[in-house]
Amino acid sequence: MACDCALAPSREPVAGSAPARATPIPLSNPILNLAGIVQDSIVDGPGIRCAIFAQGCSHACPGCHNPATHPFGIGVDIGVEEIVSLVRSNPLVSGVTLSGGDPFFQAEGFSVLAARLKRLGYEVAAYTGFTWESLLSSRDPSVQDLLRNLDILVDGPFSLAERDLSLRFRGSGNQRVIDVKKSFAADAARSDAVFAPILCAERRWVG
Ligand code: SF4
Repeated sequence: MACDCALAPSREPVAGSAPARATPIPLSNPILNLAGIVQDSIVDGPGIRCAIFAQGCSHACPGCHNPATHPFGIGVDIGVEEIVSLVRSNPLVSGVTLSGGDPFFQAEGFSVLAARLKRLGYEVAAYTGFTWESLLSSRDPSVQDLLRNLDILVDGPFSLAERDLSLRFRGSGNQRVIDVKKSFAADAARSDAVFAPILCAERRWVG
């Protein structure tokens, strides 16, 4: 996966300026640590999408093609509102894909970003090395918020043994393209906290 970072990392201290973290971070504009942003991706989901790559992942999948995104905290810090502005600057973009790394390790900030993008009408998808069931089991409310602000979730770690180049928008057969909205809608009449997802049947996602 190419992380053509559209953000010029600027870590040089500016004489006389306050340290970057000295100003309290407003809750409405949390800071995300990113490996990069591709503003016109055609490989991270259907259509022209803005792909946002989180920095940090500890799943350690053998065969991962993006190991540079594994260390935490070494990416570029950027606020949610700045990311939203970048997304909106390309009128051809109809969807946004959260990838990495793994965005669920920064669930609080990504949940705010996903909610903002949903309100603006973008289809929001996310890739994660966690399974749907493990995310549903999480007691972290930010994880639940992020999940519920997604349209599509591609879940599970990359499995080298199940690698399949014929699959659309996923690398191995164990990964599922989940219709998050339908999954939660179907749960409305159920009481179990962890329930099976409804898989996406849209050809544009699963071919
Ligand atoms: S979840 Fe993704 S980024 Fe993380 S190790 Fe697995 S394949 Fe790599």
